[in-house]
Amino acid sequence: MKTPLFLYNSYSRTKEAFKPLDKKNVRMYVCGPTVYDRAHIGNARPVLVFDILFRLLRYLYKEHNVTYVRNITDIDDKINAKAIKRGVNIEKVTEATIELFHKDMDFLGALRPNHEPRATEYVSEMIDMISKLISLSFAYPTEDGHVFFEVATFSDYGRLSNKNLSELKEGVRIENENAKKNPLDFVLWKPSNLEEPGWESPWGRGRPGWHIECSAMAKDILGDQFDIHGGGIDLIFPHHENEIAQSTCSNNMKKFANFWLHNGFLKIEGEKMSKSLNNFLTVYDLIKRDFSGPAIRFNMLATHYRQPLDWKFERLVEAEKTLIKWNNKFEPKNQTVLPMQILNALLDDLNTPQSIYEMHQLFNNEKFDDLSNACRFFGFSSKDIKDGISIPPDISEKIDKLVEKRNNARLAKNFSLADEIREDLLRAGIIIKDSGQETTWESGQKLEIKKLKKL
Ligand SMILES: [Zn+2]
Repeated sequence: MKTPLFLYNSYSRTKEAFKPLDKKNVRMYVCGPTVYDRAHIGNARPVLVFDILFRLLRYLYKEHNVTYVRNITDIDDKINAKAIKRGVNIEKVTEATIELFHKDMDFLGALRPNHEPRATEYVSEMIDMISKLISLSFAYPTEDGHVFFEVATFSDYGRLSNKNLSELKEGVRIENENAKKNPLDFVLWKPSNLEEPGWESPWGRGRPGWHIECSAMAKDILGDQFDIHGGGIDLIFPHHENEIAQSTCSNNMKKFANFWLHNGFLKIEGEKMSKSLNNFLTVYDLIKRDFSGPAIRFNMLATHYRQPLDWKFERLVEAEKTLIKWNNKFEPKNQTVLPMQILNALLDDLNTPQSIYEMHQLFNNEKFDDLSNACRFFGFSSKDIKDGISIPPDISEKIDKLVEKRNNARLAKNFSLADEIREDLLRAGIIIKDSGQETTWESGQKLEIKKLKKL
């Protein structure tokens, strides 16, 4: 390869030339979803970012030489809580959520990883790893059935997050303080009550902590050391710091993953996404609003993966328009050669915004053959590109009529009816705006065509 691939390694905080341990088996592990709820667009960001890296590695090293593992966390207290709330067993929650996760990510054109191990299938490997950590004096069991990793035994603790122990201490949740030797010590195993899922272990019936899940699954499928470990920036501490501690200590290796890659945060229209701000956006919300998978990918990749991403609907609509324009010019030939300027952008720490800029140049210079190849690589080519958010004309007419009905109700001082209409429309994602004599409406963030049809 003439130009090597450069990736920003969070561990060294520099861009480094990527060299796989084994060119015939390039190995990548990415932390996957905890399956208790439908994926929001913040969950989709690492999926799409590492999908591009997966595609690039396959391009550079050939498809059969790349192994991509993305786990499924199906043991988690949020899952238990949901199952209890619904009065169903845990598998019912996890199976249904996994199916929806696959549907949503397939819609976004993300390639499935080579392995999607589930935590529940690896409990015995986790127990083995914990036993080894205890026997090597890196971990200790307590009388109440917990096992903790003893952070003071691992001198590199804090190296990934670039913080010393007292700085890290401020960021940890206070829990099980009495049983722990040190507040930073973290759970490897915890006891389960009868309502909670549990497995028999040398420390009684219980379940693994979250961090040990990834260490055990990565070891089993990828080995003691591998090339790339990825995830969202919020996972650096404590999750990835703890994975490193568990894996290097139990495997007796200096290194676990050679490269650590982290994608930045995601905001919506400048605000942090949260259920309380009512701007919580799932991938399915976007599907229901009729956006296409390629446009969602485009909007996600238009920001460099390490930068914070501000999700704006205006830009998503723009993306949809750009892709229609480009897709109309696609050459039918199915070549898989990436244009040099786009390959070079990707080799520079996955510079996807630069790649997209280059695609615009290709379009402007009428290099449609190159453009179609690039779009195929990026998953931007599709027959399903849609022309922005489209409210069907009959629905639009219906909204107009309801707004008129509301105006009449207000004139007749029937305010309860007026409010009722306004509320109904709002629930379906339509916002009514009164200014002076004039009333207008617009679609809000969550348009629900089905609900509108029923009004
Ligand atoms: Zn993980």
